[in-house]
Amino acid sequence: MPDKIIRATGEVAELRFVLVDATEAANAIGDFHGAHAFARILLGETIVSSLLLASGLKANGTAQVKFQFSGDFSIVTSDATPMGLVRGMIPTEDVRGIGDFEPLLSPLLMTVRKLNEKGIPMSEGIVEMPSEKIGPCTAYYLLQSEQTKSAVGIKALANSTGARLDFCGGYLVEAFPKADTKTLTIMEEVVRNMPPMENYCRPDSGLDLDALLADLAGPFRYTVHREMPVTAFCPCSEAGVMKALTGLPNAELEEIVIQQESMELHCDYCRKRYVATPDQVQQILEKMSQNPEADEGPDEEEHGIP
Ligand SMILES: [Zn+2]
Repeated sequence: MPDKIIRATGEVAELRFVLVDATEAANAIGDFHGAHAFARILLGETIVSSLLLASGLKANGTAQVKFQFSGDFSIVTSDATPMGLVRGMIPTEDVRGIGDFEPLLSPLLMTVRKLNEKGIPMSEGIVEMPSEKIGPCTAYYLLQSEQTKSAVGIKALANSTGARLDFCGGYLVEAFPKADTKTLTIMEEVVRNMPPMENYCRPDSGLDLDALLADLAGPFRYTVHREMPVTAFCPCSEAGVMKALTGLPNAELEEIVIQQESMELHCDYCRKRYVATPDQVQQILEKMSQNPEADEGPDEEEHGIP
């Protein structure tokens, strides 16, 4: 089944519901990174967190989510747009380091940056992660940093080989500021008694979001406003990679020109391979010497998804 996002609100209750099935996108992004088992699950759950947080953006911007750990794993990040475009990154050395083993890790920080449609940062929130679980961290961030009462469920489950996720998705229930105490109490009760996400797994993979929404809304009537696909998408380009090269020390670039050997680069997000030829590197060096200030823009990874 293709991935999708459903957005709904209570007809009377001051509640907003966002449901995400990102199984296919998370598997595609997991494949780019060769992520297995735990790494694939962590990457997938981070992708869902970014999609849920991006759903709150009014304008067409990007939500960038970063989880930092100490231990066997250092970092996992994901960028998403409210239209369901998403990309994710997990360091190659971490993926290789843990293989199929469950790593030892302790949670450190969760950072959320919101960029406008031009890729310019509008806000940044940082919280200490209360646990290593992505769902509770996302709810904690919303409360601490955005003063929003919410419940978040995020879960990915890998198959027996660890090579694929059977499902990867989640939900967000957000209380609007006007929500009354009775609504909040009922909602808390409904969320507490929600069946495990596994119950909504379709036989052929992915999640049955319509059934999940019907249960999640409990006694409240709701209206679905929007359904849209989730798509793994990376906006990297050769021009962006060439620009990133200007951040390297001159000596390193000169060495490439002297040795007349091409330089191989990979996008951190989609692992696409780019090659910079000695001629291209020569041109970059010439441009830098003519106008040393011109290329000091943000790195490619700082940009949002257009
Ligand atoms: Zn890329």
